[in-house]
Formats: sequence, C-alpha cells, structure tokens
Amino acid sequence: MRPIEKLRPLVLVAPLAGWSTPLAEVPDPVFSGRMLGAGLAIDPTGSTLHAVCDGEIIAFPESRHALTLRTEAGADILMHVGIDTVGLAGEGFEAHVNLGQRVTAGQRLVTFDLDLLARRAKSLLTPILVMEGCGFAPVRSVENREIRVGDVLMEIAPVEEAGRRSESAQREAGEVGNETGERRRVRVALENGIHARPAAQIARVLKGLAAEVSLAAHDRLANARSTVALMKLGAHRGDEVEIRASGTDAATALDAVAALLTAAREADGGSSPTRQPTAARLSRQHAPMEVRAGTAVPGIIASRGLAVGQAVPLGVREVAVVPAGAGVSHETSELERARSQVRLRLEAARALASNTARDIIEAHLALLEDPELAANALSLIAEGASAGFAWKQAVRSSIEVLRALGDPRMAERVDDLLDLERQVLLAASGNAEAGIQELPLDTILIADELLPSQLLGLDATRLAGICLAAGGATSHVAILAAAMGIPALVALGPAVRRLVAGTALLLDADEGLLHIDPGAERLAAARRQLELRAVQHAAEREAAQRDCYTADGQRIEVFANIGSLAEAQAAARNGAEGCGLLRTEFLFLERETPPSEAEQHAEYQQLAAALAGKPLTIRTLDIGGDKPIPYLPMPAEENPALGLRGVRTSLWRPDLLRQQLRAILGVRPYGQCRILLPMITDGAEIRSVRAMVEEARSELGRREAIEVGVMIETPASALMADSIAEEADFFSIGTNDLTQYTLAMDRGHPELAARLDALHPAVLRLIARTAEAAHAHSRRVAVCGGLASDLAAVPILIGLGVHELSAVPSVIPQLKALLRKLTLEECGRIARQALEQRSAEAVRALGVRASDRDSEPQSV
Ligand code: PEP
Ligand code: MG
Repeated sequence: MRPIEKLRPLVLVAPLAGWSTPLAEVPDPVFSGRMLGAGLAIDPTGSTLHAVCDGEIIAFPESRHALTLRTEAGADILMHVGIDTVGLAGEGFEAHVNLGQRVTAGQRLVTFDLDLLARRAKSLLTPILVMEGCGFAPVRSVENREIRVGDVLMEIAPVEEAGRRSESAQREAGEVGNETGERRRVRVALENGIHARPAAQIARVLKGLAAEVSLAAHDRLANARSTVALMKLGAHRGDEVEIRASGTDAATALDAVAALLTAAREADGGSSPTRQPTAARLSRQHAPMEVRAGTAVPGIIASRGLAVGQAVPLGVREVAVVPAGAGVSHETSELERARSQVRLRLEAARALASNTARDIIEAHLALLEDPELAANALSLIAEGASAGFAWKQAVRSSIEVLRALGDPRMAERVDDLLDLERQVLLAASGNAEAGIQELPLDTILIADELLPSQLLGLDATRLAGICLAAGGATSHVAILAAAMGIPALVALGPAVRRLVAGTALLLDADEGLLHIDPGAERLAAARRQLELRAVQHAAEREAAQRDCYTADGQRIEVFANIGSLAEAQAAARNGAEGCGLLRTEFLFLERETPPSEAEQHAEYQQLAAALAGKPLTIRTLDIGGDKPIPYLPMPAEENPALGLRGVRTSLWRPDLLRQQLRAILGVRPYGQCRILLPMITDGAEIRSVRAMVEEARSELGRREAIEVGVMIETPASALMADSIAEEADFFSIGTNDLTQYTLAMDRGHPELAARLDALHPAVLRLIARTAEAAHAHSRRVAVCGGLASDLAAVPILIGLGVHELSAVPSVIPQLKALLRKLTLEECGRIARQALEQRSAEAVRALGVRASDRDSEPQSV
C-alpha cells in the first residue's frame, strides 16, 4: 500500500509568471493531444523557471529547455519551456540546478532568454505536465488566469491503485519482458536526438501493439513506452541505440520504432489543436496551419492592399559572435570601426529617407550614440570579450531593463535595439551587406519578423508584399510598410516559414488573408484588379487637383496633415488644398538644443512656399513627458498622457512658445499661416496664448491679425465647445486623442488597438456637440485626427456638420472621389443613425455601407 500522505492530492505551484492556458492551445499535437501527459501551459511573462513542487530532477537534457521532477510520492512532472526549443541546443538557457539534485517548491531551476525564444521558438507556451503513466493526474487546474510564481497552479492525485508505480518503475527500467525476441541497432538521425517530442511519438506508435519494447543506449535501458525513461537515455543524433522487442508483433514494433529514430525529421504528431489562441496572443502562438496549394492563412493587417507575387523567404537574421576577444585594444577599435560604419550608413540613408523612415533612422542613430550602451560594451571588452559579444551583451542588458519597466510601448524600443545590435554585429563581422538580399520581381517577402533596417535595405521596387509569421500591427516595420505603400500581414503563424521559395502567392491585405498558390485563374483575376486599381488611382489623383464639392454642391475643403517638407510636396501632388495640421514636433525632437527662431522661421517659410500660397495651419509644439527632450527636462510623471502635454507644456515654458509664435508670425505672405493650439481644455489657456501672440505681433511690427484656432481633443474642450468658440477662431478636432481620452484607452497600447475605434458613438456625440457649437458661433470646424483619413467615417463626419477634413496626403485622391459621390442629405441621415448606435462596430458597419467603395479605410 502506498502510505496515506502519498495518496493525498499534491499541490503544484506556478513555476513561471504569465498566463495559464489550456493545453489544447499549445501549437504542438504532442502536447495538445496529451501524448506526454495532462496539465496546462503557461504563456510566460517571466524568464525564470522555478520548481512546481519538492522533488528530484530525474530528467534534464543538455539543451536545458525541459526538466522533469519526481515527487516523493512518485509523480513525474515535466516543465517544457516553449515549443520546439530543443533545437536551440541550450542557447538562451542557463541552468541553476543539476540532474539528480533534490529541489524544493519555488526553487530557481532555469533562466531563459525570453526575447530569443520569442523570436526563435515556435511558441513560448510552456507546458506543465503530469507525465502519462506515472500514476498521477491533475484533479484541478487554474486555467485562463494571470499567475505569479508560487500561485497555486494544479492539484494532482493518484489515478490507480498502489503498486502501479512499482510496475511503472520496472517498465521504465526496461525490466519487464523483452529479455528474448528481436533486436536491432540503429543510429539516431533525429536532429535533436530523443527528446520529449519523439519520445512521445514512440510511445504513441506502440500504443496499438502488444510487444514489449525497450531501447538501450549509453549503458542505459529504457522502456519504449515511457517517455520519461526515453528522455533519460540522453540519446543524441548520431548515437547508436539498440531496439529490443519481444511478443507477437515484435517485428512490427521494431520496424515502427526504427523508422521514427532514423527519420531525419520528426513526424508531425497527429491531430491539430482544437482551439485557436486569442487574437491578443496570436503573434506568438499558432495552431499549425496548412501551407498547401489552394489554402489561405489568416493574419493581422499591418498595411492594406493587394499583391500578387512569389514567396521569397528572408535569409537568416542571427549573426554569430565569438565570445573571447583578441585583446582589449584590438576589440575596442573593432567596435569603434563597426559603430562608425553603421553611423555612416545610417546618415547616408537618412539623407534620402522619407519622413517615417527618417524618424526610425534617427532613433537608431540616437541609440548608436547612447553613452551607456557604449560604456557597457567597452567594459565587457576590458574583461576579455570580443567586440561583437560585448555589443550583443550590452544591447541585451538594455533590453532587459526596458522589459522590466513593463510598459508595452517599450516594445518598439526593444525592436530598435535588436535592429541596431544586428547592424553593428554585421559590420563587426565585416559582412555589413549580408542583410541585403537580391530580390526577384514581385517578391512577397516571408520572414519570422523583419527589422526596419532590413526593410529599408531591400529593393522596394521589387517588393510586392510582406508576410510575417510574428510581429504586431503597430510595430515600426508595420508603420514603415504602410508609409511605403507595401501591403503587409503580420502574425501569420509559423506555418508560413514552411513556404518554399517561388510559391505563387496572393496577398490580400484588405481581407487579412494570404492565399497559397491559389491557381492561375485567381491570380489572373487579382492582377486585373490591381491594374484597375492603378488606373482608378491615377484618375483620382488627377481629379484631386480640383476643388471638392459634394454631389449636391456643398464645398468641402480637403487639407493634409504634414510633418516635413517631403510630406508638404506629397500633399500638393495629391491635391491637398492646404495643410490642416503641421505637426511641428519634427523640428524639436532628436536634438540637444531647441531650434532657434530663425531656424524655425526658415522651415515654416519653406513649407509655406511648397504649398504655393494655400493655407498652412501650424500647430504649436505638442510635446509631453513621454518624449524626452534633453533641453526640456520635465518633472517625472507617472502618467505622461495626463501630464504636461500640448499647450500646457508651452505655457510651462513660455520662452519656447514665444520663439515659436514669432517664427510663425514672420512667415510671408501674411494670412497664409494659422496658429493651432493643442490639448486645450478651457478658454483661459487660449487667452494666455493670445496675449503672447499680440505681444509678439507688436514687437515684430506686424499689423495683420493671425487666426488662432484650437484642437478639440479632450472631452473637456468638446463639452465646452460653445464657450471655447467665443475665444477661438476655428476648431480642429483631434480624434486620436479625443478617442484615447474618451474611451480611457492608451492610443499606443498594442492590446487595446483593436478596440480603440474613433467611430465609437461616445466620440461621435462629442464631435456632434463640437460641430453644433462651431456653427452656432460661425466658426469653421475641421477634423484633423485619423478619422478624417478613414473613408468609412467620411459620410458620418460630413453629416455631423464637419466641412473641412485634414488627412494623410496619400488618401486625399480617394477621399475627394468619395466626397463627390455623397449628398448632404444622405450624410445627415447616416450621421443621425450613427449617433444612435451602441458600439463602434455597428457605426463602422454603417459607414462602410454608406461609403460604398472599392478600397478600404486607411489609418494614420
Ligand atoms: C489627434 O490627437 O487627433 C491629433 C491630430 O493630434 P496628434 O495625433 O498629433 O496627437
Ligand atoms: Mg493630439
């Protein structure tokens, strides 16, 4: 009999922080099909694996990715960090314990590099299993919950009578049967040896057979039906293993096991998981997907559009580094050489870059010059590291620090750091061009992830589309793809990695689907559609040069949002009737001192000239505590979005505002420029700025007045629009911030992105109120936030009384084409219906129907 206390349920505590997930969601049938045992998985946010209970470590492969504990009562618990992590061969794992050691619940076992795994593993999901056949099973587990290390995770209890354990132990030791019978020696061909997955597959093929089978290797014998025993053999690729089988179907069993061991690739394992992971976690976890001809793989839209082309898998990204250096002075100058090579290349690229690309390049340049990063690398070199190793370590420890902040927006910074790490490592290896790949025509690039510098290094004229297995829709590379007009889907899952170069693809980044080899007919139809779109866009661009009226004759002014000279030129080409929002931040960021009045004046004057006399609406500096500026040290803020932002910052540093106002007032011809104030909440702020405008005007001797308008982007200003209208010359509704503050959802939060829709009826009611107040006081009212570039929103905005839109330059031709088809009457009807809807989805559905168009909305 088993002693009483050994029959009591045993509590397992969480070995990792993260989200507890049903096993069915693990994208590997070996786990989701419970071939190895029952339990659950953890989607980790932490990177240290702790013991789930007291026990002895009975299996701990050299790859350190998995560890099995045996409790005193005999339960075997497997902790398997990530999926397909055995292939990392220990890279990114650090063991704190040894095989055979006894550990206590909560003890630190293994630390792993979460970032490396996120990029290289099929999934981070970490199964915690009670091993099949150990005589125990979970009786209760805590699923679909956020968990911290040490929280109760599972209760397990014995499943069968006492005595089963001893039989199991005998089986494991290979002591049962098979003393006689057939034997065959084979060499293990499996790339990663006999680890958990093939062990489970061996056990599974033997399930339908009666034979007793064992495997012998390294003087150890294991029952082939015991996955734990098989893993403990420690058989690697190339090792010789003897298969011993006895019983009626011994020969069949022997053949089956031999076939598994000698296959170069592991078998797929069987049925697919039954449930898809949630969208929020899609980018990292996927059910296996087919990549057969005629199938379609769903992804998340990062940049809309349609593309027809061929699959081109991106070359490998990791750059190998040797740890040991060849002397401090040699490695120091190697690092300096690599950094200056990257600096020169970035500076050259910046000179030619578009606005979006330039921002990213400047972020990389700033990181490259980061004194702390360089100092950390140099001190590692002083300890004997190579230049490459030191740089990589320094970058990785900065990433750790960023991650520890727990701010999702820092993910972008992590991407930038990884990108820079790669650029310097390539330069250090003397192989700076290795990342640049010759592309065939109509390339649809396939990659796990893509870094901005990799995208910028590709020949965009040959790039028809981008498909990423991982990645998020708000990453820098997604923004860049959208700015370059390249359709892109992200989070397609690991299946796309299996796409063979040259496979015909139809990338429908309007519907979020990648069609694999969809057949000649569909490809031809898609090509025809692309040609039609090109013709239509060319016609729209030509027509956009004319002023815009609705079908029933209402004049609607269509302006552009710009942030650089290049964008002003693009705006003019696309038919913008002026600039409704100049984001002046571009002049103030990424520099050590503020731009002088003369410098600002020259920039504004140049922009005014590019717009050839059309209105230029200059927004005063809209900066906040979330964008650090060295010359503007701000008090630390717990919640920068609610802190010193927009006009508040300007009134806090009136010297900067005064300079900016003077620079604007100097632009000729007088009358072309308007001043726009961001983040207004009441009339007092407007009065303060107006007083400064008047002061500057009299200092400059300018007699002509200048219009001073305000952004309506706080719920306060929308609700107070009637009284604010008495102080302001015009309104411009900033729907990006208005939505963030109305819905109390951070506009940069990746998890909330899908729900942050400015078509929410609450936002629309604020817009309606603003428009009413503007009309009552005969003030112009524009929308300059992202909603103005969203074609589904256009009929609703017009119906709410907005007769000026300021949009991203590229969308203006489509916007004008749509406006020409609408009437005020139908827009009014749709707007009234929209105000009565109960959700953003319902409003959007209305808007999509009303805008009845070929192309989809764009986001800014
Ligand atoms: C807005 O908030 O809608 C807006 C146009 O301003 P920004 O996006 O620059 O904050
Ligand atoms: Mg704003």
